[in-house]
Amino acid sequence: MVVVGDGIAGSSLATVLARDGYQVVVLERQTTYRDKVRGEWLACWGVAELLRLDLEHALLDAGGCYVTQVVPYDEVTDPTQAEAAVPPLDQMLPGVPGALDIGHPEASEALTQTAAEAGATVVRGVGDVEIEPGDAPVVRYEHDDVIHELRCRLVVNCAAPRPPFGRPRLDNRRARRGGRCPD
Ligand SMILES: Cc1cc2nc3c(=O)[nH]c(=O)nc-3n(C[C@H](O)[C@H](O)[C@H](O)COP(=O)(O)OP(=O)(O)OC[C@H]3O[C@@H](n4cnc5c(N)ncnc54)[C@H](O)[C@@H]3O)c2cc1C
Repeated sequence: MVVVGDGIAGSSLATVLARDGYQVVVLERQTTYRDKVRGEWLACWGVAELLRLDLEHALLDAGGCYVTQVVPYDEVTDPTQAEAAVPPLDQMLPGVPGALDIGHPEASEALTQTAAEAGATVVRGVGDVEIEPGDAPVVRYEHDDVIHELRCRLVVNCAAPRPPFGRPRLDNRRARRGGRCPD
């Protein structure tokens, strides 16, 4: 299996596939996860998935912690009203202790490490990725000025929001269909 994009989705998927015994290669263009304007927590329903996939410890070990209350202060709400409207995050979903507070780069790094520990091969700093869809898809990518080619059973595009189709010649509509996980 080839997973393109080693963010939160790609590394989580790679971990569970590798744990299930699949040979997985993950291709990530960044060598260091850049801090972007992103949220700093995983909402309760994301935590439920994290628990289901047995990935919670990776994020807690990386400095994540549970948040049980968030006060929705803003410019238009009176602080007293905001403080009265605190949602009980530890009671949102059964078995979910709250929202999990962790930065996006730290979460990505921790989950990447988990994928590697589970047996996935993680290649960071890849350049152009080209996917040739079909029954036996082919993935070509550049790494350290060398073009590599992988033949695999399945390619999953987790490089959201931009798909990894760097070559203008490629028919993106076909590639997108062929590159995504069908089931
Ligand atoms: C402003 C903002 C705030 C947000 N706040 C929250 C929040 O509070 N809580 C929350 O749970 N979610 C939040 N999100 C959403 C959260 O960031 C995404 O749901 C999550 O990161 C999606 O994971 P992903 O793996 O699909 O994408 P990403 O985490 O973005 O990972 C995609 C990976 O693919 C790589 N990539 C991209 N193109 C290529 C390529 N061509 N080849 C190889 N690799 C490639 C990228 O480098 C990246 O590592 C927020 C998003 C934004 C934009």
